[in-house]
Amino acid sequence: MIVVLQPGALPPEIETIKEKLRELGCEFFTTRNTQRIMLHITGGEAHRAPSALKLLPGIARVVSVTSPYKLASREVQTEKSIIDLGEGLTVGGDKIVVMAGPCAVENEKTLFRTAEKVAAAGAGVLRGGAFKPRTSPYSFQGLAEKGLQLLAAARERTGLKIVTEVINVQDVELVAAYADILQIGARNMQNYPLLQKVGQQNRPVLLKRGLAATIKEWLMAAEYILSAGNFNVILCERGIRTFENYTRNTLDISAVPLVHALSHLPVVVDPSHSCGDSRLVPDLSRAAIASGADGLLIEVHPEPQQAYCDGEQSLTPREFHLLMESLPGLARACGRCLETGPAKLKNSTKQKTTHYVAASTP
Ligand code: PEP
Ligand code: MN
Repeated sequence: MIVVLQPGALPPEIETIKEKLRELGCEFFTTRNTQRIMLHITGGEAHRAPSALKLLPGIARVVSVTSPYKLASREVQTEKSIIDLGEGLTVGGDKIVVMAGPCAVENEKTLFRTAEKVAAAGAGVLRGGAFKPRTSPYSFQGLAEKGLQLLAAARERTGLKIVTEVINVQDVELVAAYADILQIGARNMQNYPLLQKVGQQNRPVLLKRGLAATIKEWLMAAEYILSAGNFNVILCERGIRTFENYTRNTLDISAVPLVHALSHLPVVVDPSHSCGDSRLVPDLSRAAIASGADGLLIEVHPEPQQAYCDGEQSLTPREFHLLMESLPGLARACGRCLETGPAKLKNSTKQKTTHYVAASTP
């Protein structure tokens, strides 16, 4: 059961509510996001007296949560979450945010070139892996901290936010020191210690769906992050394993409206890993927007044939630019608009005021 407090609940009112819960023999913990404070109750007799509780001043709603993913569910929060990336960039509101860049950070020249091109085309976030989870131990594993430094330098030049993957618990703080969004890759969706660790950070998390994860398992993974205190979770559908092998994975487009019905968390789509074929990426991107996605995560490389990984699914900057040109009209037809990104290069005088939504304090 969850007690949702009114936005302006006063400290003495909150204390009285807690006192009442203690009287009823309940255990509870508190979470707090930008919109509200909630008391999460286990045990005790509160379920026998929900209407008496509702009458206490300061309580907005008493919700008996039936879904196993409690904090992620729409039962607890009816309105969609809007994740603040700082400097006016948000995910989950009216604006569709495009995150684009190479699969892996390879070197300064390629990264800066890609960053400038995707920023000019209207992306808001630069993607690129510094720690790569590769199927083969002999494949390029990423530049590690050097890659993070290059991403930070690309952010300085372009004003783009950066999203990058963290694959180990021990690297979470390091990656959080550089990244604007921590990416949890498909292979780590059920790495529970890693989920708990990113749940303790004050950074938004992009949680990719596992290679063969059901929607329930994916939302339960999000629950690990939320219950550790971090409410800034963005879900990412990136294709699932099916019998079809003409494509790398199968984009589960129905996951987008379904997850929106089940959860308040924003959902973005990665069409690149979904299909593994750059020819399909533009149409899948548009399908994602038509299905209600809050953003896209797209691989772009200036010379896909030379890419260290995933060149076959990477768009060239020109192809990316053409795709971006096709999106505003579609977004409008879907009642949304396209975020135009920082559209600022190097010598801009715009002040940097990055801030993050405070994580909850259990
Ligand atoms: C990636 O986005 O770089 C990546 C490795 O994707 P996924 O975890 O979806 O395979
Ligand atoms: Mn990739």
